[in-house]
Amino acid sequence: MTVDTTSFLTRAVHAGRGQEPASSRATPIYLTAGFEFDDFDHAAGHFGTGAGFGYTRTGNPTVHAVERQLAALESGADAVLLASGQAAVATALLTVAGAGDHIVSSTHIYEGTRGLLLDNLTRLGIETSFVDDIADPDAWRAEIRPNTRALFAESIANARNDILDVAAISAVGDEFAIPLIVDNTLATPYLLRPIEHGAAIVVHSASKFLAGHGSVLGGVIVDDGRFDASRAGHNAPHLVLPGRGGLPGVVERHGGRARIAYARESVAPRFGASPSPLNAFLIGQGAETLALRVERQSRNALEVARWLAAQDAVESVDYAGLETHPDHDKAVRYLSGGFGSIFTFTLRGGLEAARRFVESVQVFTHMTHIGDVRSLVLHPGTTSHAFRTDEERDVLGVQPGTLRLSIGIESVDDLIADLSRVLTAVPETVA
Ligand SMILES: *Cc1c(COP(=O)(O)O)cnc(C)c1O
Repeated sequence: MTVDTTSFLTRAVHAGRGQEPASSRATPIYLTAGFEFDDFDHAAGHFGTGAGFGYTRTGNPTVHAVERQLAALESGADAVLLASGQAAVATALLTVAGAGDHIVSSTHIYEGTRGLLLDNLTRLGIETSFVDDIADPDAWRAEIRPNTRALFAESIANARNDILDVAAISAVGDEFAIPLIVDNTLATPYLLRPIEHGAAIVVHSASKFLAGHGSVLGGVIVDDGRFDASRAGHNAPHLVLPGRGGLPGVVERHGGRARIAYARESVAPRFGASPSPLNAFLIGQGAETLALRVERQSRNALEVARWLAAQDAVESVDYAGLETHPDHDKAVRYLSGGFGSIFTFTLRGGLEAARRFVESVQVFTHMTHIGDVRSLVLHPGTTSHAFRTDEERDVLGVQPGTLRLSIGIESVDDLIADLSRVLTAVPETVA
């Protein structure tokens, strides 16, 4: 339409548009609610097959570029980006399970995920059983029922730094044709790619390491693209049955990628936690430097953990990178390039020492976030795990003197100097 001769009001919203084709090296940000159709048939075709772009909640080129990037980093076939990590976990679980179904989950999971399973999904008719000894395949096997639709665990779990034996637990799922869903937020695909060890689905809070800058929230689901309808169809009737109005079912249209296609077509856009294309761009920018950051963060974390373990004020350090950690062998087997940068340590002085610590650090930031380029500290006992019983906190490795660190990319000397000033303040003044 030519708008040059129209009124001011019309020119305000129509003038000046028109896209010159240009090969932007950075991913262009398509910050738009929707996309103009070329013609009548193009619109009908989009609604018929989902091809091309119509509305940003169902697809956006910036979002898709980041999905391809993250799928490639995780060695997956395809990915769906969401507005937060919680949205990714919820969407992944609602992709595999519905009312009357059952999930087996590790006890050692993010508190938000635990709430989702115990409260929200239970109210939707999806029941969850929890496994405490996640290293024991029989403990998982024992919880599986005929209506179990997924196993769920974190590759590196807070607060004890347990390392998931991805191959062994995927194999248990495989016996029953059930996917293992791994929350790989703490490990990142730089250190561990669960799909290469047999996991079917990986989820992330992209708000953490993938973005890395702590400026946005985001989440992603990555699928292995190996859904086998002949083996697993009975566990996923919504994927194998014909579609509404006799249309071909999801497997018929998408084959091995049926699961992620269903997440993209049916779950993500209807529950509606779509990411902003601007946030998608910022996650993509962050992910480009993931390896550099995580390598440095892991190196810093190992040094900080070793230093802490040698301090009188410190009772224990739960970091899988230390030879003394019960899962160190598994960490060596599964993680390459470092051992991650999130771990807890416990002060002998208990709650009061923990309070002094968070209020005295200067280089560390006191906040509830992880995977940032900055080093962060939080007291789980009175924050994330405040509403657990003492017994539950004990099982999870959260004591009154326990602090969680997320180590950043700063100079490790400055980090240790900050810790040293706080932890050795009293003896130094006495001396
Ligand atoms: C932060 C986090 C989530 C939730 O992600 P949000 O982006 O905060 O919604 C899920 N799992 C783990 C392991 C996390 O650390």
